[in-house]
Amino acid sequence: MSTEQATTRAEELADDDAWPMRGIGDGAPLDRDRLLAVPLRSWRRPARNQARVDALAGVGPKLGAAAERIGLHTLGDLIEHVPHSYRDRAGATEIAELRLGMEATVVVEVRSARLRPTRRRNLSIVEATVADPSGPLQASWFNQAWLAERLKPGTRLLLNGRLDRQGFRVENHEILGDGADGDGEEQDRDPLSAAGRLPSGLHTTGMVPVHPAGDGLRPQKLREWVWCALAGARDLHEPLPAALRFAHGLPAAADARLAAHFPADGAEVELARRRLAYEELFLHQAAMLARRGEREDERVGLRFEEPGELVRPWLASLPFRLTPDQSAACAEIDRDLSAGRPMQRLLMGEVGSGKTVIALYAMLRALENGAQAALMAPTETLAVQHFQTLERLLAGMPLPAALLTGSTPAASRKRTLSVLATGELGLIVGTHALIEPTVEFARLGLAVVDEQHRFGVGQRRRLDQKGPGDVAPHVLHMTATPIPRTLSLTAYGDLDTTTLRSLPAGRKPIKTWVVGEERREGAYGFIRERIAEGRQAYVVCPLVSESEDKQAKAAVAEGARLAGGEFSEQRVAVLHGQMPAAEKAEAMARFASGATDVLVATSVIEVGIDVGNASVMLIEGADRYGLSQLHQLRGRIGRGEHASHCILFGEAETERAQARLAAIAAESDGFRLAEIDLTLRGEGEVLGTKQSGLPRFRVAKLPDDAELLAVARADLLNLLDRHGSLGEGALGPLLDAVRERFGDERAEPIAA
Ligand code: ADP
Ligand code: MG
Repeated sequence: MSTEQATTRAEELADDDAWPMRGIGDGAPLDRDRLLAVPLRSWRRPARNQARVDALAGVGPKLGAAAERIGLHTLGDLIEHVPHSYRDRAGATEIAELRLGMEATVVVEVRSARLRPTRRRNLSIVEATVADPSGPLQASWFNQAWLAERLKPGTRLLLNGRLDRQGFRVENHEILGDGADGDGEEQDRDPLSAAGRLPSGLHTTGMVPVHPAGDGLRPQKLREWVWCALAGARDLHEPLPAALRFAHGLPAAADARLAAHFPADGAEVELARRRLAYEELFLHQAAMLARRGEREDERVGLRFEEPGELVRPWLASLPFRLTPDQSAACAEIDRDLSAGRPMQRLLMGEVGSGKTVIALYAMLRALENGAQAALMAPTETLAVQHFQTLERLLAGMPLPAALLTGSTPAASRKRTLSVLATGELGLIVGTHALIEPTVEFARLGLAVVDEQHRFGVGQRRRLDQKGPGDVAPHVLHMTATPIPRTLSLTAYGDLDTTTLRSLPAGRKPIKTWVVGEERREGAYGFIRERIAEGRQAYVVCPLVSESEDKQAKAAVAEGARLAGGEFSEQRVAVLHGQMPAAEKAEAMARFASGATDVLVATSVIEVGIDVGNASVMLIEGADRYGLSQLHQLRGRIGRGEHASHCILFGEAETERAQARLAAIAAESDGFRLAEIDLTLRGEGEVLGTKQSGLPRFRVAKLPDDAELLAVARADLLNLLDRHGSLGEGALGPLLDAVRERFGDERAEPIAA
């Protein structure tokens, strides 16, 4: 379905003019009383699905614990634990038809079985002679010694496996009970009617689901549990409004789950998948919009006047003119600020795109409206950096600003807090220190939150509470991580977004090469030449994700190695995240002043440093970084008037890795790179869940499901329009489902 078609169909159905609806049986109008009289849902008992997994027969503490480890606590969790793939095992094959190398299912009777001795201690093989009417077969099982006992002559079996030179190697088997239908084709595979009784062929015939398994938990076990748990699917509430399901042709909640786990064919799989993906995206968007709605219900925003006395002369005083994107951003912000609702806008733009200028613009708008403004950054380094930029950009203007971080000395902290509380101080820049309970603002009207994804919902809420009375400050979020549009709806569905795409004029493109070890000597030589010309260089160490500590050590070691070798004639310094703030600041200041030539750093320089004279960057282990991250890193050079060069070392072992590195060398647009990264690596990896605030969807896949996402969002906005709130009774248990799936907080990562 195309987005357009989908919405029109949904709109038609949602259209009030379509009422009164007619009953299907007698064609009489369906009025409210008649509808209420329908005993809908009266038999549902969703609480039953909250029974713990170990309530299933045969699940003891050990298996229960293994289930817990992969996030399966309740029967309901099992119902939602959709398979990642299916093995299509059509009906049974006759033994006489088996060919070497062929995977097949056979229905057989045991003639004899024995445990074959082997010399290896950790290897046991059970061998059985089995037969069907077409002939005999030698079957073998590895490491399932206990089977020798159970495979009594005459036992009927379903075997799934592969024929090799030694015989039939069994992957899965099922013992067929008395009277079980032996042909493996017409089995009762409806869990609702067969609750508790495992049907034959569950593991061996038809579309066999493969569920994400875990340590100590075999797929076979999981398949059986899911089968049993599925009886509870009929107790699920349907969170999707019927009109929408109808409009998009989506199966009901229970049906979709049954089909997802035990489909009859590929078409069912796809239909179930679409329904579940839509549901997931729909509920997630609902969570975002509901959260936004709550904030707007609870708090008002200050209404600012037209831009005036402060920002006009300030803009005129800048040594440059705003880019068209910057001007557009200011206009959007002005609209937000005059609306009487607290602004929640995200400003996206890669490093150097001029976000700070916009942030200051917004802050000055607060000042000229008699309010205070704060800028909050996730790290001390960044806060200091922003503070300096602000002071520089404010050059001639007599506006007091202060810096507040964890390492602000007590005396100056006290002074700052007191002028902040009286309102004498209008501008403040800082870290989380700004939202501590002891910090009081006289009249906080606007806050800028840099790298917003690094703050949690709780922290944002605390910031809201710093506003005067019931007023929430306007908030401008900033991020330098360009997110493809398809993802920004999920990551930032609760924010309005503005993008700075055009870079300020005069920026020089950065020449980027991806090179192999054989070019290493040459690369150092190249850097030495640039330094001889008066430039400076960065050397970025590989990303060691497990520990900051290791990363710091690696940087120190690399710094020492270079200082004693390739750069023994140059002045080398090290910068990493584990250094005390003062040392970090000093290392950065020395580099900025030109007192060091080479800065060996971890990825901490990704944000924070702005040294126009630094024109070369060498990145080690480039294959370990995401494209966006590499792009952001190299954004540290090319900031001055000099030609800039970025040299990437990295082993691209896979084709994908090669494609990624080729892209970074060829492409200079951060958004394009983000999109390329997304298609090459998939959403989960591009934006670590935690870092980006993106939920991990179970079924939905972005960007593939981008269209479905757009449909879901449009549907929700429609519903909101019609009902005013997603909590309306007419929408049934929608918000309950949202809460159950995504919690009260911003999309918490879901156990995969
Ligand atoms: P970001 O915060 O997005 O990384 P900044 O706001 O720090 O970008 O801007 C990067 C540099 O570009 C700063 O030195 C800033 O003064 C300069 N700059 C910003 N806007 C413009 C513009 N419109 N024209 C020229 N230079 C600009
Ligand atoms: Mg900046």
